[in-house]
Amino acid sequence: MASKYQAPRGTFDVLPEAARGRARIERAAAAIFARAGYEPIATPAFEDTELFERGVGRSTDIVRKEMFSFEDKGERSLTLRPEGTAPICRAYLEHGMHKLAQPVKLSYLGPFFRHERPQAGRYRQFHQLGLECIGTDSPLADAEAIMLLSDLLGELGVPGVQLRLGSLGSLDARRAYLEELKAHLRAHEGELSADVRERIDINPLRAFDSDDEGTQGVMGSAPTIVASLAGADAEHFAEVRALLDAAGVGYEVDPTLVRGLDYYTRTIFSFVCDALGAQSEIGGGGRYDGLIEQLGGPPTPAVGWAAGIERILLALDEVEAAPGRDAFVAIADESQRQRAMALAVELRRAGLAAEIDLAGRGLKGQLKHANRIGARRVLILEADGSAQLRDMESGEQRAADPGNLVDEMTGGES
Ligand code: AMP
Repeated sequence: MASKYQAPRGTFDVLPEAARGRARIERAAAAIFARAGYEPIATPAFEDTELFERGVGRSTDIVRKEMFSFEDKGERSLTLRPEGTAPICRAYLEHGMHKLAQPVKLSYLGPFFRHERPQAGRYRQFHQLGLECIGTDSPLADAEAIMLLSDLLGELGVPGVQLRLGSLGSLDARRAYLEELKAHLRAHEGELSADVRERIDINPLRAFDSDDEGTQGVMGSAPTIVASLAGADAEHFAEVRALLDAAGVGYEVDPTLVRGLDYYTRTIFSFVCDALGAQSEIGGGGRYDGLIEQLGGPPTPAVGWAAGIERILLALDEVEAAPGRDAFVAIADESQRQRAMALAVELRRAGLAAEIDLAGRGLKGQLKHANRIGARRVLILEADGSAQLRDMESGEQRAADPGNLVDEMTGGES
């Protein structure tokens, strides 16, 4: 019977069959992070609103429109985290990680919240996994970060993935470029969409993302930051590309690439998968050399990325089959209940997946249930203390040694 309550708009329940696919992604990511030395970190699901205003940027859509903010009983403004980088930088400073050997390499996984208009691949509570490499400006860190996401998507078998790469230059270069871009936009103000026009001063880069035809025409002739990169910025970008080339990671330089968060400097990247349709980005990130200083810390260069678990699942479009059970302990008589429970516990301790009937079924019902859950073998405990071992695939049944039931079940496994 349907309840009158439903999961809130833009959210979803992860049912067991969907949880298995997620677990596979999480395991693969954890192994990749561990092998490269990115240790797990977890931060709270909510933070001071100001952290995101300062970190993500007041001009971004995320801060302007998409934050789930609320006041707590002490009248503090808190926000459900819309992203993971600002909180991790906050933790990095709060726990004095800037005094550790640098860089500090961290990985994370968890729920994030944005009040966006829900559609396929876009939710109000979604899950990201990601990494941050904090405390180095080496292009090696950029290339390593990109390669780790590329490896993860490759290992998971995500089809049709493309990597887009760009660079925003250092903070100063970016500032100078933004003035140039604003001048171009102002010169063509009449051709721009109202939304872009209103934001010329606060976020001119987003004009590259517009789907308005007039705006796109204006952007076709707009100066790009990649073309204007110079000096150390140009060298940094060239080195990142050379490292990716040497590692055989394919990419396309996209001079119009922008990201929805203000903190990026120099390298930015985006992994897209065309099969995903409108929300085609699976994951992305970049360098954020100014963020930690912005949050009150020392100048600290860093790079990181996040990938959306739901987007990966959509791109994979596969359902994991339920794992089979090794064993089911059935009873032919009520008197055997305690013995069955003890035996199941022992089998589990020996590493087997073993279940017992919890619903008071008769023996026939128990065998049917064992079959339903994919049990490979069933032990039937008889009233007289004897036991039968039934192979569910072949249907063969034989007497088992009652004094040695665990061995009977664990033996002959290979
Ligand atoms: P961002 O933090 O905006 O750079 O996004 C990083 C990744 O998170 C994206 O590439 C998506 O895979 C995923 N993502 C971002 N927003 C959402 C959303 N509202 N719903 C589902 N996934 C999202």
